[in-house]
Amino acid sequence: MNIEQLHHLFLQSTGVCTDTRKLEKGQLYFALKGANFNGNHFAKKAIDQGATYAIIDEKQENLDNAIIVEDVLQTLQELSTYHRLYLDIPIIALTGSNGKTTTKELINAVLSQKYSTTATVGNLNNHIGVPLTLLSMTKATEIGIVEMGANHQGEIAALSEIAQPNFGYITNFGKAHLEGFGGVEGVIKGKSELYKYIRKTNGIVFINKEDPIQIKQSAEIDSKTFAPHNADYSIAFKEASPYVQLACNNLTIQTQLTGAYNAINVAAAIAIGSYFSVNIEAIKLGIENYIPANNRSQIIKKENNNTIILDAYNANPTSMEAALNNLSKQTSKHKIAFLGDMFEVGETTNQEHQHILNYANSLAIDQVYAVGPTFGISTPENNTQHVFLTYNAFAKAYKKNIPSDTTILIKGSRGMAMERVLELIE
Ligand code: ATP
Ligand code: MG
Repeated sequence: MNIEQLHHLFLQSTGVCTDTRKLEKGQLYFALKGANFNGNHFAKKAIDQGATYAIIDEKQENLDNAIIVEDVLQTLQELSTYHRLYLDIPIIALTGSNGKTTTKELINAVLSQKYSTTATVGNLNNHIGVPLTLLSMTKATEIGIVEMGANHQGEIAALSEIAQPNFGYITNFGKAHLEGFGGVEGVIKGKSELYKYIRKTNGIVFINKEDPIQIKQSAEIDSKTFAPHNADYSIAFKEASPYVQLACNNLTIQTQLTGAYNAINVAAAIAIGSYFSVNIEAIKLGIENYIPANNRSQIIKKENNNTIILDAYNANPTSMEAALNNLSKQTSKHKIAFLGDMFEVGETTNQEHQHILNYANSLAIDQVYAVGPTFGISTPENNTQHVFLTYNAFAKAYKKNIPSDTTILIKGSRGMAMERVLELIE
């Protein structure tokens, strides 16, 4: 069976499924192989549960409606590209070290004011998630928004070939996944694969004109820029205490996001909305109604005039610095940081953790608690900084000491689950 025929079956189905636990009747089942499972072993179950066909790459006896292919993953990817070309709609691809999901949600919030959009669900941004996102688009979809994640070279190039975006935006080039990319230069090269693809296909990239790396890397590509002045879209940052506010076309846009770094994410969404002719009032509405989920820069108000910035979804050196910087700029009287280890930093991990402690020390932050095997071996700068090797050691030693009028930052890599601090300080 060729891809065209498979696509025909796909259009007659109710969608695709790769996990029999989530299978819905009428779907095509793709038997993917993971590190711990082999989808081929569940093909019969999928058919029994109502899948129309099972796409497999290991021959099986007595299986009705099986479609045997060379490689199921590759077939899924090819089908998604075929479908993307069949739909022939604008696809906006997003990558970058930090803020992809937030920016994707913001762009979706803005564009969905005017268009029927389909965007990546949650964080499904890899070699399986991108095809599934494309296959979730239908004839009704007018614009697709696709998040692309990567932790090594070549990945964004491959995802671009799959999604074939006409538009691209790179949120930033930061110190994330340094290990897999081979340092900061590696990150720049790896993320820029999206620019390369857009250049090759004569698409358009959106550029934050205040980011010199974006400007340098996107030279010679058609671009639309945003910045406070002298850009295609003039978008100014007003303040971030506690919520980010921006100004555009004499309108103030009041977000429900904290962190000055989120101003860039919002500005990108405004620029992209403007490019697609969403009027500024609708853009404002889309952004003002957006509330971040999953411990991403959430604000929690407490009694005693205390504010918690819960940013425990993930962390890397760049986002950690941005979050500390934001904390120090809050107008509350006191500031406390609870920091968890940053994972996947690579060779420079000890220096980066020490640097974060030093950086926090250089800012107006009253107390710092740093937890994890790498923070734990760092050297506190003074007696308001405390390091612990494990979360348990920290929880045991911690004596609650939070004055009124305090802003509290909670941040760390996902594996540190720093949201646990909430129970301790309650
Ligand atoms: P992932 O790699 O998990 O897909 P992501 O790039 O999608 O992450 P988000 O989930 O949007 O990023 O945000 C994660 C965290 O990154 C936020 O909670 C915040 O701490 C930080 N962050 C968001 N935007 C920026 C930015 N523009 N610059 C620096 N840090 C940011
Ligand atoms: Mg994400």
